[in-house]
Amino acid sequence: MAKIDLVNVTKRFNKTVALDGIDLTIHDKEFFVLFGPAGAGKTTLLKVIAGVEFPEVGEVRISDENVNLVEPAKRNISMVFENYALYPHMNIFDNIASPMRSPLYKKDEATIKREVHKVASMMKIDHLLERLPSQVSNGQRQRTALGRALVRDPNVFLMDEPIAHLDAKLRHVMRAELKEMQHEFSTTTIYVTHDYLEALSLGDRVGIINEGKIVQIGTGEEVYLTPANEFVARLMGDPEINIFEIDLVDEDGVLGGVMLGQKKPHLIPEDVAKVINDGGYTKIRIGLRGNDFNYSFTKVSPEYMDATVYSVEPIGNKTILVVDVNGEKLRVIAPN
Ligand code: ADP
Ligand code: MG
Repeated sequence: MAKIDLVNVTKRFNKTVALDGIDLTIHDKEFFVLFGPAGAGKTTLLKVIAGVEFPEVGEVRISDENVNLVEPAKRNISMVFENYALYPHMNIFDNIASPMRSPLYKKDEATIKREVHKVASMMKIDHLLERLPSQVSNGQRQRTALGRALVRDPNVFLMDEPIAHLDAKLRHVMRAELKEMQHEFSTTTIYVTHDYLEALSLGDRVGIINEGKIVQIGTGEEVYLTPANEFVARLMGDPEINIFEIDLVDEDGVLGGVMLGQKKPHLIPEDVAKVINDGGYTKIRIGLRGNDFNYSFTKVSPEYMDATVYSVEPIGNKTILVVDVNGEKLRVIAPN
């Protein structure tokens, strides 16, 4: 049980500002996803909470207690990295058991056995306990690492891109399992990813970080449908969102002189402020995602614009078209 507060946390490495005045509250039992590009400060944020990096400014609080001066081992936090390291000479059982045998968490062998079996059966590796890490698959090694982190019954679980190196199919399976695991254990968790699908599917809330600053926090749906700015809008979606300027006439948008129709464009808030009055027209920047378009191969009504197909990219369950509409290249999703 733990709530985490970061208050004005700043961390520099020489001239690099890795964390820039972070104010953030993670609720008790929450599964919070921290999402952002490489170099944004995600790993540093986790390390500051774990206590292995020290913020020069600001405060880390766990359950309302300032832990700035509490050493990492005493914070009862489990951290799983992408490059998890198992002990190669120990079998899976002993790897999972190892935290419970450390002097700090010392438990009796009967408890250890019970706990290892419980976690191993959850992680579906209970038939592999006698094997060495070299004798199991990548995914099973990763489950072992997760199991080892869980078995300590930590106050807080920090996961740094723990499944990023697994192949796509296994990632999918692990995503579902992580979610289930979180339900069962309901331990406060911060999960770092640079994969937007993971961010949208896993988190109770998603925090988006860029250049050491939290730029938006919301549910997956909120950050996807109402991005705080163009950076967030571009970070999520495949194909990338189309962002362009249109003339605004009343409530409807006009692109190349043609009404955009009933599909509501996503206004990009940071640019709404920059609405410019230009010879009687109001111009505004909007974002339209690939599936926000209606299209037809024949001109069914005057509202439809002509589009020239520029490229076709079939990717299994959908096809991404790049089309040219009056000189504007748009990424559009066409069903198969
Ligand atoms: P992310 O995990 O989002 O990719 P990091 O937290 O690892 O980002 O890094 C944030 C910034 O801090 C980057 O510019 C990175 O180069 C820098 N940085 C991180 N750790 C160190 C370090 N130990 N020494 C110097 N610079 C670092
Ligand atoms: Mg990182």
